[in-house]
Amino acid sequence: MRLFGSTRPANPASPASPGRVAAPPAGAVCLQCGMLATPDVSFCRRCGLPIGSAPRSDATLPSCPVCYETVGDDGRLPSFVAIRGRVDLVAHMAEHDQFPVGDDEYLESLRAGDLIKIERWQAPFDLVRRYLVTGAIDGGRRRTYLHSSIVTAMSQLKRWGPDADPFGDQAEWREARAAVTRLLERYQRGVSPRV
Ligand SMILES: [Zn+2]
Ligand SMILES: [Zn+2]
Repeated sequence: MRLFGSTRPANPASPASPGRVAAPPAGAVCLQCGMLATPDVSFCRRCGLPIGSAPRSDATLPSCPVCYETVGDDGRLPSFVAIRGRVDLVAHMAEHDQFPVGDDEYLESLRAGDLIKIERWQAPFDLVRRYLVTGAIDGGRRRTYLHSSIVTAMSQLKRWGPDADPFGDQAEWREARAAVTRLLERYQRGVSPRV
């Protein structure tokens, strides 16, 4: 199906379809750092780039705090609604209201400060959330958390998958892996597919 380059004029009075759901106005967001600019400025106050310009090639590009995706070289991410094409970070984050990556309300209900309670275990909240969303574990900081059965379980799941029966397995790790798997399944009930 051809979505782009249509010669049919846009009709704002036509009934709402996914492609016409109101999105934040384009061009008001710095594509290099993702900061929302006020309408009266033409340069980003944080990084000095003209609003609407593509990021400099040496810039560290921003990531979405919800899904951890980093914007592309154009400073944009693909919209969850295919017909919108690529959108800036602020528009992308707004789309998560409609397209959550998981059941964050449930996850927040398990939070205890910086930690998350998973059945009888505890682990760093941010580390667990990133694992649930991306399947990745922050290797650089993992060492600090080696005492946590949940972190061990996440590493093992990443390496072996949920059905592994590794030699020398410990009951504690096996139970923690089952708990993480249950949490993941519960969390992913909140996912909305792209349209
Ligand atoms: Zn900027
Ligand atoms: Zn996102």
